[in-house]
Amino acid sequence: MPPPGSLTSLPGVGATTANRLARLGITNLTQLAEHFPRRYEDWTAPRSIHSLRIGEKNVVIKARIIKVEAARSARRRLHLVHATLEDETGSFRATWFNQPYLENTLKVGEIRLFRGTVGYDRVQAQKVFSSPSFLTTPKLLPVYPETAGLSSRQFQILLEKNWPAIINLPDTLPESVRQENELIARPKALAMIHRPQSLLEIQTAQRRFAFEEMFWFTLRLEQLRQTLAVHQAPSLTVETSLVKQFVDRLPFHLTDGQRRAAWQIIQDIKAKRPMNRLLNGDVGTGKTVIAALASFVAARAGYQTVWLTPTEILAEQHARTLSRFLEPWQIPVHLHTRSHRLLKKSRPTPGSVTVGTQAVFSEHEVFNQLGLVIIDEQHRFGVAQRAILKEERLIDGQKQVPHFLSMTATPIPRTLAFALYGNLDLSILNEYPAGRKTITTQVIAPQGRSQSYEFLRQELQAGRQAYVVCPFIEEGEEGHRETLFAEGQKSAVALAKELQTQIFPEFRIGLLHGQRKAKEKQQLMADFLDQRLDILVATSVIEVGIDVPNATVIVIEGADRFGLAQIHQLRGRVGRGEYQSFCFLMTESWSDVVRDRLKVVAETRDGFALAEADLKFRGPGQFFGTDQTGFPHFKLANLMDFSLMSEARAAAQKALAAGLTIPSEFANDETSAGGME
Ligand code: ADP
Ligand code: MG
Repeated sequence: MPPPGSLTSLPGVGATTANRLARLGITNLTQLAEHFPRRYEDWTAPRSIHSLRIGEKNVVIKARIIKVEAARSARRRLHLVHATLEDETGSFRATWFNQPYLENTLKVGEIRLFRGTVGYDRVQAQKVFSSPSFLTTPKLLPVYPETAGLSSRQFQILLEKNWPAIINLPDTLPESVRQENELIARPKALAMIHRPQSLLEIQTAQRRFAFEEMFWFTLRLEQLRQTLAVHQAPSLTVETSLVKQFVDRLPFHLTDGQRRAAWQIIQDIKAKRPMNRLLNGDVGTGKTVIAALASFVAARAGYQTVWLTPTEILAEQHARTLSRFLEPWQIPVHLHTRSHRLLKKSRPTPGSVTVGTQAVFSEHEVFNQLGLVIIDEQHRFGVAQRAILKEERLIDGQKQVPHFLSMTATPIPRTLAFALYGNLDLSILNEYPAGRKTITTQVIAPQGRSQSYEFLRQELQAGRQAYVVCPFIEEGEEGHRETLFAEGQKSAVALAKELQTQIFPEFRIGLLHGQRKAKEKQQLMADFLDQRLDILVATSVIEVGIDVPNATVIVIEGADRFGLAQIHQLRGRVGRGEYQSFCFLMTESWSDVVRDRLKVVAETRDGFALAEADLKFRGPGQFFGTDQTGFPHFKLANLMDFSLMSEARAAAQKALAAGLTIPSEFANDETSAGGME
């Protein structure tokens, strides 16, 4: 089958629409067909008018239109359309505002379904329906994820117009896989998910697509595993007495967990089998020093080590930290990012360590003795490994691969790690270094804001620094605006301005977000680290690994928008030095649910426990809410559905064994597992 053509050739899609679709990552018909509904409106069970109570939301009635009249509101000069609706149990008035055409659309005598909220009309002293939507036939109406400029309704229309082509899309899942796992065929599944007749149909279709996502995902991981299994890695010589010296020279004692992890890693890299280990430890449990120790061993054995980080900021920070650990041993540490390239002259020598973003490998030929790759904040499962393995590499004159060590601060339950990754080796750091202070965490209601600011002022006056984190960058900025975040939430840009002009004019405030240029970000981080800035207003880009020990307060705006695990990560930005630190969780929404959820973070310090709590409160779909956790973005598949995951994995293993190759649209990591910087 030829790949589906560009979107603009489709009916109903002009250049503007195509651009908007592209923003949602939709650039071909398949992707349009897989823009699955976020939820469904149930129009199948109408209520009787008599039973309606004031304040009830999203109720559906089936009623005859008795009367339609247009009017103008006296005071606000609004254009109104009133209709009287009637069923066997009573009658009811509906009102629409500024939709004059409805006067002709709503025809007296016709029976329609109406859906809306039951209100109360003070003047008439009766229940009313205000601006209900209406339909002719009962159904489960799909509601699509929206973007600025593309409503759910427009998606319904687009899908409608392209329906014949959509159900002709080829089924990429092999027939045998479908049969063995009782999955329905793609056209049928598409019909069931976009035009469901019942809840069961929705579930059946969702299962098929979830399975499919997991199937391709695990297939790639399985391939990686097999590649690693057939390859050899250099066996690194470990000088035990030097390792001991390295540990003895550290300014602290390693925790038991750190010792265990270090030992496991050393056993792995001594072997000729490539290490593929995940070091999972909560924020602040001290993963960096363990990875530094591994780099030390590799360097002493005469091999190069590369540290891959998701952001340039982290790369710079790691380079600094590593230099502290390694320079006493005359082990050179290089930095290589997009904005900070290695000079050709300073090729990494065999016993050196290079820290960088993926850009490091654009000049991969300079690594001729690569023994160890450390992937910080396991941003994308397996993606970095696969990218590196694509390049054939000679190590010691033989075709070999380096050892891999991944680190993540996202608490991954062991069961999930296994389901995702199969026989990945896992080292867990489950204790903090001794003497670590607990970060005082408080949930702050709107009326407590000024008091928190006063507290913050005192900390700043005492010479400390603070982070203020916002869930999004800018209001109303087309394309970047997440409708989810829009209401009543200040953006990082607006907040930085307000803080600087109205609240803290005497302090120096910087603004950091993902869309600033790399140079600017670097400068901001350097300014903050060197105390040329007092407050850093940021989006969650600061989530991963930033280390500024003088920062003692973190204010998280719209805290209810973040996952608990994410808040925990953010909180880990403070409490890194000798000072008592504080975390304020600001929320405008003051419901019991929100408060209870946030209270859990306030009272819990253990990331694994928080991960579980988050699952309980928000459901599995939202737990890993952020790109930075490193988990694949599934549209439907639920990472916590271990049983479906292992079914998909088994199917993938079997398919691989039978010689299945990955169709090009799934081979590309960018599409479903995401890319790297
Ligand atoms: P993370 O696991 O979040 O990456 P880091 O490696 O950045 O944590 O460690 C956090 C801080 O704790 C660093 O300043 C590090 O030097 C320090 N640290 C690491 N291990 C220990 C230890 N065993 N005792 C005391 N401090 C430690
Ligand atoms: Mg770290």
